Amino acid sequence: MARFIFITGGVASSLGKGLASAALGALLQARGYSVRLRKLDPYLNVDPGTMSPYEHGEVFVTDDGAETDLDLGHYERFTGVAARRSDSISAGRIYSNVLEKERRGDYLGKTIQVIPHVTDEIKEFIRIGEDEVDFMLCEIGGTVGDIEGLPFFEAIRQFAQEKPRKQCIFMHLTLLPYIAASGELKTKPTQHSVKELRAIGLAPDVLVCRSEKPIPEKEREKLALFCNVRPEAVIAAQDLKSIYEAPLAYHREGLDQAILDAFGISPAPRPNLAVWEDVVDRIHNPEGEVRVAIVGKYTELEDAYKSVAEALVHGGIANRVRVRADWLEAELFEREEGIVSLLEPYHAILVPGGFGERGTEGKIRAAEYARNRKIPYFGICLGMQMAVIEAARNLIGVHDAGSEEFENAASGQRFTPIVYYLKEWMEGGRAQRRSAGDAKGGTMRLGAYPARLAEGSQVAAIYGTTEISERHRHRYEVDISYRERFEEHGVCLSGLSPDGRLPEIIEIPDHPWYIGVQFHPELKSKPFAPHPLFADFIRAAVEQSRLV
Ligand code: GLN
Repeated sequence: MARFIFITGGVASSLGKGLASAALGALLQARGYSVRLRKLDPYLNVDPGTMSPYEHGEVFVTDDGAETDLDLGHYERFTGVAARRSDSISAGRIYSNVLEKERRGDYLGKTIQVIPHVTDEIKEFIRIGEDEVDFMLCEIGGTVGDIEGLPFFEAIRQFAQEKPRKQCIFMHLTLLPYIAASGELKTKPTQHSVKELRAIGLAPDVLVCRSEKPIPEKEREKLALFCNVRPEAVIAAQDLKSIYEAPLAYHREGLDQAILDAFGISPAPRPNLAVWEDVVDRIHNPEGEVRVAIVGKYTELEDAYKSVAEALVHGGIANRVRVRADWLEAELFEREEGIVSLLEPYHAILVPGGFGERGTEGKIRAAEYARNRKIPYFGICLGMQMAVIEAARNLIGVHDAGSEEFENAASGQRFTPIVYYLKEWMEGGRAQRRSAGDAKGGTMRLGAYPARLAEGSQVAAIYGTTEISERHRHRYEVDISYRERFEEHGVCLSGLSPDGRLPEIIEIPDHPWYIGVQFHPELKSKPFAPHPLFADFIRAAVEQSRLV
């Protein structure tokens, strides 16, 4: 039976609760335990699939096709444990389950209330797979005091109450603001936040305090006294140069020890942190630097492409180089003159996934530039579709090549659809169907799909196999009927769905590195196991950097 760690936040949002949870998961693994991390989000969206990446950061897709919060990406990157649909839940999903049951008559005429019906639904979710691991880490999104969060806090209170003693503990993450004028770290906001928690029946066992400065002994004792935790359970979390220092930094501060103490586990197994020491050593001691241009749309909020940014860092780790990635707004490239001077400083170009027409002509230009100049090009999902459209227009002579995604655009412009809306496909032996008017939520080709790679292709060499499985999140597909014409012009469709109908990878063998993939390899990359495509892309960028 798993032990449960509930992680809550106070004082302010964006303190790195997801990262702290992920790092704690990694530390427990380093001590030989199995873990699973879970996110409970109090917002009313059913899932983040329909939320703007501007507002909420990237949508992280799991193997089993759930569209989840980007924190699940952190969890996977730190623990290597593949997240599942059941690791992400929102208030929206909980309420819609409850209302569905009510309509079905499952509650036998009872009045439906937050307590017990909503809280029961939350507890049921927390329990899924509780026998499979040693520790279940459940992070509650938002901060204590948010109206939407209340049913979740109440549910975890009840949950802990129903379990035997010492089977559930609470970790609370807060901020100690630094007041420069007096040179002090302030503990009052944390005291208030813990008071708020206690008012709803929760008492933290471990306090993780984000601060710019080390916590002086006096403040630590004060926090322990006023917040009713042991002084060793007040953990300082200072800003780090790289997020991958977090497991080692938290270990130095005693986080994993404090957690095990709170459960009364003694003696605690010794940790083996060699993997993290190696990762951090590679990050801190690079032997070179490469510059990568990411030509995208949501460039104002880096979190919109969180996994891409991290996978590039992993590619750097694999090659022991620092990767300096710059986010360039695709629309800039729609003016011909600008493009050369903007892209010239870069050793490689990446066009990530995206939706909608805005910026696509700029991405097509960037793909053309990379192809002609023989600069390494990595097209991911929409980035592959752009590369295909570029090749169709400029190599095989379909001058109005485009994607059905852009046909209804206000401009009224119509294209020859090289990329089309897929209405029928096979999933686990069953035919899936959809039509253009379907609801937007959860209607994409989502989750892991297998692909076969052509023997002798560049990608087969990179992966070291011809059978792969990668995660998808898209509606549109490259039209396979153009295959021969592409191949005549040197663009190979080197990865296909097992039935041979859907192009999953394109490559240009006569180019140092020109690869487009219909899936999202960034979602499976880890610092200790960089994704082969990202590792090889950065290797190619290093070679390019030696040429210039
Ligand atoms: N908009 C494209 C599609 O739906 C690409 C999606 C993506 O890049 N994730 O097919």
